[in-house]
Amino acid sequence: MIAQIAFVLVFAAGIFLFARRVREIRRNISIGQAVDRTDRKNERWRTMTMVALGQSKMVARPIAGFLHLLVYVGFVLINIEVLEIVLDGITGHHRLFASFGGGVYDALIGAFEILAALVLIACVVFLIRRNVINIRRFRMKEMDGWPKSDANIILVAEVLLMFALLSMNACDALLQGKVAELMAAGQEIPEALSHYIEAGSFPVSSMLQPLYAGMDVDGLIMTERFMWWFHIIGILAFLVYVPYSKHFHIIMAFPNTWYSKLEPKGQMTNMEAVTNEVKLMLDPSADPYAAPPADAAPVKFGAKDVQDLTWKQLFDSYTCTECGRCSSECPANQTGKLLSPRKIMMDTRDRLEEVGKNIQSDGSIKDDGKSLLRDYISEEELWACTTCNACTEACPVNIDPVSIILDLRRHLIMEESKSPESITSMFNNVENNGAPWAFPAADRGKWIEELNA
Ligand code: SF4
Ligand code: SF4
Repeated sequence: MIAQIAFVLVFAAGIFLFARRVREIRRNISIGQAVDRTDRKNERWRTMTMVALGQSKMVARPIAGFLHLLVYVGFVLINIEVLEIVLDGITGHHRLFASFGGGVYDALIGAFEILAALVLIACVVFLIRRNVINIRRFRMKEMDGWPKSDANIILVAEVLLMFALLSMNACDALLQGKVAELMAAGQEIPEALSHYIEAGSFPVSSMLQPLYAGMDVDGLIMTERFMWWFHIIGILAFLVYVPYSKHFHIIMAFPNTWYSKLEPKGQMTNMEAVTNEVKLMLDPSADPYAAPPADAAPVKFGAKDVQDLTWKQLFDSYTCTECGRCSSECPANQTGKLLSPRKIMMDTRDRLEEVGKNIQSDGSIKDDGKSLLRDYISEEELWACTTCNACTEACPVNIDPVSIILDLRRHLIMEESKSPESITSMFNNVENNGAPWAFPAADRGKWIEELNA
């Protein structure tokens, strides 16, 4: 009974801490500007099914894609076993599902063991790829410090959790053997052993049995219980940790792909304020001197800080897996420029977290003298972007870093009149000549004469 109470308390604490963090993230995302992403629902479900559930963009890099698929499938299916562990913990039973399962239960446990072994192997390969093999996208500057540790912490945790699961089963199988021996000898089964009825099949953990075979019954029970508690507390700790880490994409990838931008990748959004101005200019019945309502908020062009971005752009930042596929495809990054689209997403999330802490006390956004633009993302990074959209194409969870870059640029140009020399002269040409070139409209065809056409 004490074990059951302890379990319920630990479980409730894990769920509470997870829910509290999710509420914080929800509040942070909700400071973003409104945008409607609920149209074309069929297309949205299809996109989510293909991209998040089917991992269709992961396979663009087959080795990493296959390993990720193993971890993903293992993570999803092993949760059935976790459900049994949780119910065992609450009810005080042992292997509760075995009583309904029979052969099905044996097959399931066997399948979970194989998956656990594959997850373990995949995580070890990921650790080697990240820490030993010289892969450029894992060495970029933005991955120094916490992002690198975060990736390693989760991989090591998964290795330990899978090892605990297999060790728990190995001890369980040995204890089941002891019970079978006693029953065959017609002896009474002691209370401490009565739980370990024959259940499950152990194709992988049987290989670990030699590690524990020398232990007596008490040692085996203690080890089995230790691994059981280690496994479930580890999972709860994982649950609490995940929303603080890039691994939150495990959950966020699904809604994020549902709310994907469905328009063609290069299609830019119109700025509502500018569109309204143009409509006003073209409407002969409109009063050009009409003053805006006294309580109207001042119109802002572009984005300077996270609260000027849309909620979807903020949602993107919490979904970013920091995989770096975007940056490794980015031509600006490849040619040595400062821009890394992954860093744009990480900076947006870091700044949003900072603003989130500021509003923690009374719910209002306070001016802390900082902004996403310049304190996190420099002008040099912004102007390095060619808007080629290679990053959005490469992103396995349909994140759109370009939209953030464009909105920050819009602020620079329309609010601060700041743009690089080359763009400023293009603007002047458009204004004076109606085209980006420095020629009057009448001279534009002269190149044809030079060709003697
Ligand atoms: S759109 Fe910009 S950030 Fe994205 S890949 Fe192209 S140059 Fe890089
Ligand atoms: S934006 Fe997408 S591709 Fe780039 S690091 Fe994040 S998840 Fe990976």
